[in-house]
Amino acid sequence: MHVAVVGAGPTGLFTAMALAGRGHRVTVVDRDTGPRPDGSWPRRGVMQFHHPHALRAQVAEALQAELPDVWEELLAAGAEPVTVEGADGARTLMAVRCRRSTFEQVLRAAAERRPGLDLRTGHVDEVCTSRGRATGVRTDGAILDADLVIAATGRAGRLGQDRRAPARGGDCGIAYVSRQYRLHPGAQPGPMNFPLGQTDVYPGYQSIVFLHDNGIFSTVIARSSDDRALAALRLTEVFEAAAAAIPALAAWTDPGRALPFTPVLPGGRLRNTYQGQLDDTGAVALPGLVFVGDAVCTTNPAVGRGITTSLLQARQLLHLLDDDAHDLVGLGLAFDAWCSDTIAPWFEDHLYWDAELIRRWAGADIDLTRPLPSDLVVAAAQADPGLFPLIGPYLGMRALPASLDAARPRAAEIYASGWRPPVPQGPSRDDLADLAAAHGAGTSGR
Ligand SMILES: Cc1cc2nc3c(=O)[nH]c(=O)nc-3n(C[C@H](O)[C@H](O)[C@H](O)COP(=O)(O)OP(=O)(O)OC[C@H]3O[C@@H](n4cnc5c(N)ncnc54)[C@H](O)[C@@H]3O)c2cc1C
Repeated sequence: MHVAVVGAGPTGLFTAMALAGRGHRVTVVDRDTGPRPDGSWPRRGVMQFHHPHALRAQVAEALQAELPDVWEELLAAGAEPVTVEGADGARTLMAVRCRRSTFEQVLRAAAERRPGLDLRTGHVDEVCTSRGRATGVRTDGAILDADLVIAATGRAGRLGQDRRAPARGGDCGIAYVSRQYRLHPGAQPGPMNFPLGQTDVYPGYQSIVFLHDNGIFSTVIARSSDDRALAALRLTEVFEAAAAAIPALAAWTDPGRALPFTPVLPGGRLRNTYQGQLDDTGAVALPGLVFVGDAVCTTNPAVGRGITTSLLQARQLLHLLDDDAHDLVGLGLAFDAWCSDTIAPWFEDHLYWDAELIRRWAGADIDLTRPLPSDLVVAAAQADPGLFPLIGPYLGMRALPASLDAARPRAAEIYASGWRPPVPQGPSRDDLADLAAAHGAGTSGR
């Protein structure tokens, strides 16, 4: 079978290499020309490329299962697996400390050498069709015939969009800025309250540190997109002042420990979206064209689920193709049903969580008349550690968000008693807004 994969991001490259390994002929087309000779890689069109990424265990497992050589190359490039001790004393892989750029450079270099895989630069303008099925793609005017077209075109991709029923969801209402730093040789990482770094939710904003590979880490400040005063955080002097004022960020970014080596990067629009394989009538949008990765689901990146949901999809698609690569309608229907059951719940989880968080960031209290969002169910385990066994599988994405239902009644009881998640020490949202105003940026109002 000849497969055309549109998009050489994590999803496209992973799927393409796994298909080539099964003996299929694969052509990957991406408009991006790849890293420059000097090693820099602007990666236009993938705005998140230089923002922090946390890789969950499922990403490592996908590589170990399908591309073990690439997993070894990732480790050789400096990626650090993080393990945690389970109740039985055994250590299990929980995440991988690794920049997105390190991850993608390793994937791309491996794809370029893969037998049976042709990686080309070009913009795919349209999917070619004949007799109601996909027959290839048109790339910069030239036709590339294919038995199957895989659209791994990411969150910004437009290819074949109009064939599908519209996406659910949209802007998640949260915006962020980030910056990368390098630890001085021999310097120890700063404080950490989860294996990849430090996360603190304040009333009105959130700060996060992600430790990556090779002594590099990122700092993030997230806020409601509507909070115009905090939009000034994208200015270097305001970001630096805020980082110095927020205790956890101050500890990490102390010039005695680390120095920044990127500008302050605004995070663009963050989205929670889900779009399946079917058209408005419930039929497969185009047999022989399969959408996968961010082209199906995007979630607010605060807890790093995107590459996991993407590679879980890719693995399921491979599994379905292994079973039957010829029934293209059956393939589309089966993949759509699996994504609806297994991927869409993560989108719905974030949709509700983010809407409730924004409401609380605007000053509202927890609404006990409505189901608690997942972040609050998880936070309740600080008050009752007996909840940890119920929330652990969800936190690791080993069980769907519905698994939190078992913890909901107890969590609701805790909040009804008046308990609230402790607020970490640090500036309030208004303090940050004043700080921005003091630097001549914006006003302290919302
Ligand atoms: C700010 C931010 C932070 C994130 N942090 C995390 C994190 O911590 N952990 C995590 O797991 N996930 C994170 N994500 C999500 C993660 O980045 C995505 O899940 C991931 O990029 C999906 O990979 P993909 O290959 O599906 O799409 P992409 O990476 O977007 O790749 C799509 C590719 O398709 C190409 N393309 C599109 N259309 C065409 C066309 N017509 N012709 C040719 N080429 C085309 C593009 O050039 C691009 O190379 C984050 C996302 C954002 C926005």
